[in-house]
Amino acid sequence: MSREEQQSAESLLQVRDLVKHYPIREGIFVPREVGRVRAVDGVSFNVHESETLALVGESGCGKSTTGRLILRLIATTSGQIDFMGHDLIQVGKRALRTVRRDLQIVFQDPYASLDPRLRVEDIIAEPLESFGLLPRRKERRERVHELLHEVGLSSYHADRYPHQFSGGQRQRIGIARALAVEPKLIVADEPVSALDVSTQSQIINLMQDLQERHGLSFLFISHDLTVVKHIAHRVAVMYLGKIVEIADKQSLYRTPHHPYTQALLSAVPKPDPSAHRQRIILKDDVPSASRIPTGCRFHTRCPLADAICREQEPPLKEVAGGHHAACHFASPFPIPVHDRPTMPGVETSVPIRQNIR
Ligand code: SF4
Repeated sequence: MSREEQQSAESLLQVRDLVKHYPIREGIFVPREVGRVRAVDGVSFNVHESETLALVGESGCGKSTTGRLILRLIATTSGQIDFMGHDLIQVGKRALRTVRRDLQIVFQDPYASLDPRLRVEDIIAEPLESFGLLPRRKERRERVHELLHEVGLSSYHADRYPHQFSGGQRQRIGIARALAVEPKLIVADEPVSALDVSTQSQIINLMQDLQERHGLSFLFISHDLTVVKHIAHRVAVMYLGKIVEIADKQSLYRTPHHPYTQALLSAVPKPDPSAHRQRIILKDDVPSASRIPTGCRFHTRCPLADAICREQEPPLKEVAGGHHAACHFASPFPIPVHDRPTMPGVETSVPIRQNIR
């Protein structure tokens, strides 16, 4: 099935105006709310069947919180999450338990996410027991062996403990555990960021193979645009709790419309070290999520900011087929930030080649 056909198919997951605010309270005897940390501030996107949607952004942009809200590991402030026809925010505990079988997670840290006291067999079999699947021990053991082979490990690994494995092998065990109940969607929260580069590519290849074999969908949360380029079909870029650009991978990497995406992409290393690269270095740090700037939330760092940017928040609008960007000046033919005539506040580094000399 082509990507276009897949995208027109009914979405597996629909997220609408998702909000997570944490109140800031002061006062000992009568605490009162004095502000809010707007961790996720109105996020909407779909994930289609057999698709990988990457959620990317700097640390603290709200991408992991979004993943945890979808899994209902934390309560939402408002919004709507529809997964395979179930409203995950309204659904009761019993129904949520059933839905969870189709919605699994792979955690970032392969060292902390596995119980060191359990053998691999017990770790992988745990979701099977929890959902009352394969009640006979012999069947569960066979299923665990099958899963170990699926993720590139062997049957004899079932009797070992997590500390006897490398980081990459542990992440394979985490993936086998998520696969055990045959989910439809896996939220992968920075699944390769704790691994070295060669192991990263092995895990990415494994995830792609599993997607092909089982028609899995992934919500792939990452800060690394190089990794995302290999695995994602579509990419959503988050900044301070909002999606500022979302598009097909090809469209986003070839023609980024939002100045923030352009800056992020300018930092991605090129395979050819002699290639000319102009790095866009943004001024200032990311503002606090408890003091989000008015208007466009990126205006304090944006090299193209104008008066309107300080007053009006730009909507996420379609700038090309299926390509949306939240910028007042987004157009179908964007000029890269470093090619624009006036760039107050932007620093453009010299080409790498000159640096080496
Ligand atoms: Fe920059 Fe203005 Fe566009 Fe925001 S709306 S990204 S501040 S140009």
